[in-house]
Amino acid sequence: MFKLYRSLYRALRTYPFGQKEWPHIKREIILSLAFMMAGEALLFFEAYPLKIFIDDAIHGQHPLRITLILSATVFATYVVHEFLWKRNDKYRFSGMWRNYGLINAIGVRHVLQLGSVWHLNHSTAEKESVVSRNHKKIDVLTDENIFNLTPTSMRVTTAVIICLVLNWRFGLLSLVGPIIYGLVAWWVEKKSYPLHEDFRVSIKKVEMSETEASSHAIPIDEQGLVAYFSDKHERVIVDHTEGEVDRVHEWRRYLGYLAWALGLMRACYFPVGLWAIRSGASVGTIILASSLIEREWSNLYRFMDFSRGRREGMPALQELTEILQTEPSIKADPNWEQPEIIYGGINFSHVHLRYDGSDTDALRGLHFSILPGETVGVIGESGAGKSTMARLIMRLQDPTMGVVDIDGHDLSLCDPQWLRGEVIGYVPQENVLFDTTIAENIRITAPHVSDYDVRQAARLANIDHFIETLPLGYDTMVGERGLKLSGGQRQRLALARALIKQPYILVLDEPTSALDAQSQEEVKQTLHDLAARGNMTIVIIAHRLSTISMADRVLEMENGQVRDFDTIERLEQSGGVYAAMRALEKI
Ligand code: ATP
Repeated sequence: MFKLYRSLYRALRTYPFGQKEWPHIKREIILSLAFMMAGEALLFFEAYPLKIFIDDAIHGQHPLRITLILSATVFATYVVHEFLWKRNDKYRFSGMWRNYGLINAIGVRHVLQLGSVWHLNHSTAEKESVVSRNHKKIDVLTDENIFNLTPTSMRVTTAVIICLVLNWRFGLLSLVGPIIYGLVAWWVEKKSYPLHEDFRVSIKKVEMSETEASSHAIPIDEQGLVAYFSDKHERVIVDHTEGEVDRVHEWRRYLGYLAWALGLMRACYFPVGLWAIRSGASVGTIILASSLIEREWSNLYRFMDFSRGRREGMPALQELTEILQTEPSIKADPNWEQPEIIYGGINFSHVHLRYDGSDTDALRGLHFSILPGETVGVIGESGAGKSTMARLIMRLQDPTMGVVDIDGHDLSLCDPQWLRGEVIGYVPQENVLFDTTIAENIRITAPHVSDYDVRQAARLANIDHFIETLPLGYDTMVGERGLKLSGGQRQRLALARALIKQPYILVLDEPTSALDAQSQEEVKQTLHDLAARGNMTIVIIAHRLSTISMADRVLEMENGQVRDFDTIERLEQSGGVYAAMRALEKI
């Protein structure tokens, strides 16, 4: 377990936030433990005066002075103990909250950095459990480990030592008791482990079913699948509940053995007590030893809590550590240097791409160049590889073979965040708007630009008139996933967002597919204007030829290959994909 913790924190410390937070967390946890241990040690001084008082009283010696000293000692000990516990609490909570923040912030950052290939291969439900659910279990485990196991172990150790000093017979009892309890608890744990494993698998199914239903609530509703998914979830719940009833029954049977062990230990107390009395133990010793032993035994159940936390926390710790140790498949080469000037020329040199798990290449030997400032349309039937080609330009994937470069800079070496953040503006087929205002949705790719720039970008994307008709204008909230806007409005907002950062390259994946005729015309006009400026390389993937009528050249793709790459006039005569589409559109 400690090896896993070490790996987890080593992975967390590879991030600047981890390096910043770790010394604080370490310091606060060490301080908390120090105060806690001091408080535990002090408990003895709270108990010991009772023995002195009783023994003195029995022997008829109870001068007022001693009594007052004893009272003062107990009072002072209590006050100091309270102070120590308060300090312990203070550092404990701030340490644990910092730890929560550390794992959460870096977990989310890391998962985001893993890139779209990783995300495509993991379901939403799986991803959700990676950080948030694992995180909660790790929190419990850490809290149990540090703040439950430590004082309990100390309580047991001090009880054994004090009892050994008072009378070794009581010492023996306080030592043997936890050993018997520990052996039975170990056996119970071993026997009930499969039950907990069953529970873990079963509850994960429930959680994944819940996430599937909530994350797809809108398509489920739209497609009339509410009953289907509700019934499916109900079946998962019924399976889980029935299994759980049997598991709990079995688990309680095992817990019964622990009660037997505790009963046996308590029964041993009297013969051992008699043995101690016959050896001359004083009444005060007997009372002090019995209270210490009772306190020790009533804390033993905490070892079971720890073991439960460990059982649930370990798989979570393992999973999260593995994720944090997973390197993003797309990352900057350590020797990469950001180019000082970008012109926007795109070159594919003998590029092949095969998706993981596929046995054929999605792209086969792409070899072409797009000039800086050129506007290029990309056409081809569905599945021809158009979007895959665009993914390579944005370095969402690296080629399996060959090189994609911009102005001669090999993209497989560059920082993908720089490329997508500063060089390329992208308008996807299905764009996502964030749950904030229209202005923030546009500005999100260039946070430092002025309101004037936001309006300019909206104007370029032909969405400014619509925004100005809204009562709150640019401050209107668009709602989660932009659902309060039409498809066309969302698309134009996405275009404004791509344009505001003034990219060198603009990639549009079927930008007019969701638009009505009027909006299509407007976006087309926008694209015409942008193309006419010539200050940006534009790549437009299109299913309609009218969208790319302004293109300098058109790339025809077929079956993962470039069929032709030429001007519209030449392609119209060549009898290829363009000519076929033109013929179809005329029908
Ligand atoms: P459309 O016009 O329908 O969007 P497209 O020309 O953009 O199609 P791509 O999406 O690039 O085509 O797909 C090219 C090929 O790669 C297809 O055969 C597709 O099935 C496959 N493909 C795309 N994405 C993946 C993926 N994540 N994993 C495996 N195969 C994929």
